[in-house]
Amino acid sequence: MQFGLLGKKLSHSYSPQIHQELGSFPYVLIEKQPEEVAGFLRSGTFDGLNVTIPYKKEIIPYCSELTPIAKTLGAVNTIVKRSDDSLIGHNTDYFGFQSMVIHSGLQVAGKKVLVLGSGGASVTVCAVLKAFSANPVVISRTGENNYENLSRHMDASAIINTTPVGMYPNTGVSPIDLNMFPNLEGVLDLIYNPSETKLLTDACERGLIAENGLWMLVSQAKESAQWFLGKAIDDTCIERIYKKLQLQSKNIILIGMPGCGKSTVGTLLAQKCNRNFVDTDAEIVKRAGKSIPEIFNDQGEEAFRQLESSVLEDFGKSSGLVIATGGGCVTRAENYRSLHQNGNLFWLQRPLTELSTEGRPLSIRTELETMYQVRKPMYEKFADYSVWNTASPEETVTLILQILEEDL
Ligand code: NAP
Repeated sequence: MQFGLLGKKLSHSYSPQIHQELGSFPYVLIEKQPEEVAGFLRSGTFDGLNVTIPYKKEIIPYCSELTPIAKTLGAVNTIVKRSDDSLIGHNTDYFGFQSMVIHSGLQVAGKKVLVLGSGGASVTVCAVLKAFSANPVVISRTGENNYENLSRHMDASAIINTTPVGMYPNTGVSPIDLNMFPNLEGVLDLIYNPSETKLLTDACERGLIAENGLWMLVSQAKESAQWFLGKAIDDTCIERIYKKLQLQSKNIILIGMPGCGKSTVGTLLAQKCNRNFVDTDAEIVKRAGKSIPEIFNDQGEEAFRQLESSVLEDFGKSSGLVIATGGGCVTRAENYRSLHQNGNLFWLQRPLTELSTEGRPLSIRTELETMYQVRKPMYEKFADYSVWNTASPEETVTLILQILEEDL
């Protein structure tokens, strides 16, 4: 059998990997221009297809039957070829978002929910919310309810982002200021790259329910695979595939005092799990064209920290890297979001007496003990996990991998 994803411009997609896990494989990416779609649907060899931008509506005339959900939403993201070569169209995004709401734990019944954006995903999200007895209000740049009159909706309980604002590579921006909504219980973002958009970081900082769109992506794929294969697939696979993708796509980031072994452990870790390694201090030296002591001497610490923040933002939004950071990166609050948007952060700890001070300007100038007392709460705030690097680097690498695998 042959499956795939049909769209106009398909960049990196998780779908082939997800469908391999689900058994709906081989699964290929099929890029077609609008004028090529009809011919491909007539003569292309496929048993089932997912359909994405911009063909979710355009595909409808080629379907001889639509499921009730696809008909209601006026959009098809899954087609199956039947034995007589006719096509049936379905919409699995509905199931995907329904599953995401349940997974997030957000209770929406009887509550006002702001849905940002008025495109295809917004229609699906509103239909699901209504089925959960919520009261969705679409916020559109050009609509009756827009970003200029949000004060009308200060009583909102939840916000769902269906706009592309905050998506890779344009990360670090949010479509809305959460401070306006005192009754907010949760925020869901359909974006899954980066895993934590600025909107979700803001929600986490307020202690709200916050969930990205990866669960929705995997859930809708599971529903598609059931249609492709004509058999039920156990729901438990959603969590397994979700966790695996989350782990693979997120960077592994090492933070900790200067000289605690981040570069050594990071290099080994990257080799062990076949990832690329980035040392942010080395990247700063490359960009500045001079050594770190020279940057401190010529331009001062503030200029160094500025450069460091831009390096952390650039690499923080990448995927699947091992990143060793400079010891002082935690001193700037803005670096928290840069590193957390797509990373699992490990605080590498080592007794102060065992820290290397060679070639490290701040370590030379400031007593390590004082520095540690100042930075300790910062490392605690930034870190997802804490690991002692007191045995061999190999053992520390094993420990980090064990911790990550336990989360699977
Ligand atoms: P779409 O049809 O292009 O709609 C996006 C909407 O967002 C637009 O209609 C627009 O609404 C608003 N928007 C666009 N650019 C904006 C900007 N710069 N500032 C503010 N609002 C802006 O796209 P879609 O198919 O609905 O997908 C929307 C997002 O959901 C995408 O990021 C997509 O990747 C994601 N998605 C995720 C999943 C999943 O499984 N996780 C599934 C489907 C979609 P207004 O003009 O009314 O403001």
